[in-house]
Amino acid sequence: MTFYLGIDFGTSGARAVVIDDEARIVSQMRHPWTNIADWVSCWKEALWSLLEAISLELKGEIRAIAINGTSSTILLTDATGQPVDLPLLYNDARGSMVLKDLSHIVPPNHTVLSATSSLAKLLWMEHLPSFGQARYLLHQADWLAFLLHGQLGISDYHNALKLGYDVEKLQYPEWLEKLQIPITLPQILAPGTPVGQLNPEIAAKFGFRHDCLVCAGTTDSIAAFLASGAKSPGQAVTSLGSTLVLKLLSRTRIEDARYGIYSHRLGDLWLTGGASNTGCAVLKKFFTDEELVSLSREIDVSKASELDYYPLLKEGDRFPINDPHLPPKLEPRPDNPREFLHGLLESMARIEARGYKLLQELGADQLKHVYTAGGGAANSTWTAIRGRYLNIPIASSINTEAAYGTALLAMQQLKI
Ligand code: ADP
Repeated sequence: MTFYLGIDFGTSGARAVVIDDEARIVSQMRHPWTNIADWVSCWKEALWSLLEAISLELKGEIRAIAINGTSSTILLTDATGQPVDLPLLYNDARGSMVLKDLSHIVPPNHTVLSATSSLAKLLWMEHLPSFGQARYLLHQADWLAFLLHGQLGISDYHNALKLGYDVEKLQYPEWLEKLQIPITLPQILAPGTPVGQLNPEIAAKFGFRHDCLVCAGTTDSIAAFLASGAKSPGQAVTSLGSTLVLKLLSRTRIEDARYGIYSHRLGDLWLTGGASNTGCAVLKKFFTDEELVSLSREIDVSKASELDYYPLLKEGDRFPINDPHLPPKLEPRPDNPREFLHGLLESMARIEARGYKLLQELGADQLKHVYTAGGGAANSTWTAIRGRYLNIPIASSINTEAAYGTALLAMQQLKI
C-alpha cells in the first residue's frame, strides 16, 4: 500500500491524517496545544508526538508528507534555522504600527495592508533587537517542514500571499524588492511540490522510508477547502462556524479590498472569498446546541420568515456589506423562540446568498454547487432554507479537516 500524511497546525491544536492512495483516511491523531508560553517548543513537541503516534506499519509506506499552518504566522530564524525570537501569530496586530509607512510603498488596497499581514509583521520585527541575527523569514508551515527536510528559505504561494508575493506573475513584486529587507525571503513553490526527502536521521528515528518526500505546504483555511471536495469553477464552500466565510472557485481572480475580498491561486483557478461577521456565534448567544437542534426541527422550511435581521454580535461588517458601523439588527424579537431562530437562520441565508451574488457580480464564475462546513453544516433545516435562496445543490463537505486537505496535497492528486 501507499500512504500520504497531512499535518495541520491550526488554532486549537495540531492534527495528522494518513490517507491511502484512494484518499481514504486510514489513521488520524491530534495533539492539543499545552505549553503556549513557548510556541516554538510547543509546535516541535506536537510534530514529534504526532509522528511518534503513527503506527510503524503505516510509516514504512508513507510516500509523502505536507504540513499546513495558520495564515500569517511567521518567525525569523538564523542561518541554521534556529528561531531568533518569538514567532508572531496569525492574529497578532502589532504590525498596525507600520501600516502608514507601508501604504506609501504598496499599491492601494493591497492584501498586505492589514495589521496582521505577514509583511506588516516582518516590518515590525525589523525593529526588534534580535533582528540583526535573523537570516530567514519563514511561515509556521515552512519552518515545520524545514524540521523534516532540512532546507531553509522555502515556502508556498498560499502562505506567501500575505507577504506580498505576486501569485499571478509568480514573483516578488518590484515594490517589495525596493523595501530592501535585509533577510532572505523564501523561494516560493506551488503548494504540494516535493521539496526534498525526509531528513535521514528523522526517517530512521521515527521509522519512515528513507525516500519519503516532504512537500511544500499551504494554510489551514485553504487546506480545509481542499478537504471539502470542491474542485471545479462554480463550486464553493460556505463555512458556518462562529463567522460566515464564503469561498468560491473561479477562473477569474477577484480582488476588492473594500469588501475584504481577495483570491488565492489554486493551480489554474482562483479561490475567491469573503468573510462576514455574522454566523453561528450569534446563534450561540441566544441558544444552546440542544435548543438549536430541537427548535430547528419544528421550523416549517417551506415558509419564509418575515423577520429581516442582520445578525451581528457588535456593529460593523465588511462583506457583503462594507460598513464598519453597520448596526446589528435583531429586532423585532418574537416571544416564540422557534420564530426567532427561524428569522435568524433565514437572515443569515440571505446574507450568504448576497455574498455569493457579490462575488459573481465582481466577475467570479457562476455558483453551481455549495459544500458546507462548520457547526451549522449539520442543521438540515438551515440547509433547506439556504437552498431556497441559493437555488443550487447544497451538500456537506466530504471532509472538513485541514489535515485531510493537506494529505491530499501530499498525494499530488490535486495538481495545484
Ligand atoms: P468555529 O468557527 O468557532 O470553529 P464551529 O464550526 O465549531 O465554529 O461551529 C460552532 C458553532 O456552531 C457554534 O456557534 C454553535 O452555535 C453552532 N451550532 C452548533 N450546532 C448547531 C446547529 N444544530 N445549528 C446551527 N448552528 C449550530
